[in-house]
Amino acid sequence: MDILKVKNINFSYDGIKVLKDVSFDVEKGNFISILGPNGSGKSTLINIMSKVLKKFNGDIVIDGKNLAKLKPREVAKLVAVVPQSTNPGFDFSVKELVSMGRYPYSKRFGTFSGKDNKFIDNIMIRTRIKGFAEKKYNELSGGEKQRVIIAQALVQDTPIILLDEPTAHLDISFQIELLEFFNQLNVVYGKTIIGIFHDINLAIQYSKKVLFLKDGKVFKYGKTSEVVNEENIERVFSSEVYVGRNPFTGKIYINPTFNTSPGHEEKTRDLRIHVIGGGGAASPIINKLYNKGYIVSCGVVNNLDTDLSTCETLGIPYVSEAPFSPISIYAQNKNLEFINSSDMVILPPIEFGNGNFSNLVSIKEALEKGKKVIVIDSENIKKRDHTDGKAVNLYNKIISKGAKILKSGENIMQVLEAAHGK
Ligand code: ADP
Ligand code: MG
Repeated sequence: MDILKVKNINFSYDGIKVLKDVSFDVEKGNFISILGPNGSGKSTLINIMSKVLKKFNGDIVIDGKNLAKLKPREVAKLVAVVPQSTNPGFDFSVKELVSMGRYPYSKRFGTFSGKDNKFIDNIMIRTRIKGFAEKKYNELSGGEKQRVIIAQALVQDTPIILLDEPTAHLDISFQIELLEFFNQLNVVYGKTIIGIFHDINLAIQYSKKVLFLKDGKVFKYGKTSEVVNEENIERVFSSEVYVGRNPFTGKIYINPTFNTSPGHEEKTRDLRIHVIGGGGAASPIINKLYNKGYIVSCGVVNNLDTDLSTCETLGIPYVSEAPFSPISIYAQNKNLEFINSSDMVILPPIEFGNGNFSNLVSIKEALEKGKKVIVIDSENIKKRDHTDGKAVNLYNKIISKGAKILKSGENIMQVLEAAHGK
C-alpha cells in the first residue's frame, strides 16, 4: 500500500522553477533517501510534502487524503519533519520544546493527558535528552540541540517521518547512532522514513530505495541496490563526488571531493595552508590555524578519521578516501590540486603505512615545486613507519630537500607569524 503519492509537482520560487514534474510513490514502511547535489530541490520537496510550502502545482496524497485539504493538526498527525536547520531562538526548556511537538494531541488550553505525558517522557528517554529536560535549549551543545529537535518531531507519532539532513552537524559516531535509531523506527515500528542525508554512504547503507534528484527533476527512483551505481552517481553529482570501491568489501563508496558544509567564518589572513591528515594527528593544528583565520584545507584523510570529522565540524575543504582504504590515484591527484593552490603544506606527526604513503610522495612533489613545507617531528618517524623503512627514507629526503622541521606543534603559530609578518 502506498502511504504517500507525489503527483506531478511543479514549484517555483519567484518565477524560478525549482521542481519540475516530480512524481513518485512511497510504500508504507519504506526507507527512502533523496539524493542530489546542492540546489537540486531536495529541501523544497520535503517542505512541500510537509505542507510548509503550500503554493505548488500537483498533488500530494498521504494515506489516501489530499494534503491540500488537510488542516494543520491533521497534517501534524501524519507527517513530522526534522528540518535542516532550525533555531527556536527562544528561551524554552528542552521539555517545553519537545512537548510542543505533541500539540496535535493536546486538549483545550493546550493540556495533555497522562498518556501523552508518558509518550513525551518515553521519547525523551530514547533520544537521551531526559537528563537535561529542564535545561534551556540555548544552553545545549550542537548534538544535544539536534536530539531535542528530533524528539520534538518524534512525539508527533506520525506514520511518516521526513528528515532534512538531520545529522549534518554531528560527528560520525553520532550520525551512525541516529541512523540506527531511524532504522529501528522503520524496522520495529513500521515508520515510513524519507530523508535527505549529509553522508551519502550512510544513506545508501540504510535506505531501501533512493530517489535521485537533479535540477529539480526525478533522475532515477528505485531500489538502492539497483539504482546506486557509478554511472548514476556520476551523472547526478558530476564533479561533486567521485565513486570508489572499498577494496575489502568491493562495495561502492562515494567520496565528496569538496566539503561544502557551512561554517566558513570571515578569513582574516590570506595565507592558504594545506595540512596532511591522518589518525587525528592533524586536528590540533587544523583547529589552531582555523581559529587564527588562516585558509585551511586537508587531505588525504580516510572517512571515519577524526581529522575528517574536524574538517566537517569546521566546514573546511578536504580530500577523503573510503575508510581503511589505500589512497587512490584520484584522491592523490585531488590532494595535489589542493597543495598546488596553497602557499604552504604542513605535515603533522602522522603514522605511515602503505595505504597513506602517497601523502609523503605528495609532500615531496610539493617541495620540488617550490612550496614551503613544515614538518612537525614531535614523534620519531622510525616509530611511525609501518612500511619497512620506505617512509623513513622518503621522510629524510623531504627534510634534505629543505622542509622546515619543528620539534613540536606548539609554536607553529609563532613560526607562521614570523614568516609572514602578521
Ligand atoms: P537542496 O536542498 O537540494 O540543496 P533546495 O530545495 O534548498 O535544494 O533549493 C533548490 C533551489 O531553490 C536552489 O536553487 C535554491 O537556491 C532555491 N531556493 C531555495 N529556497 C529558496 C527561497 N526561499 N527563495 C528562493 N529560492 C530558493
Ligand atoms: Mg537542502
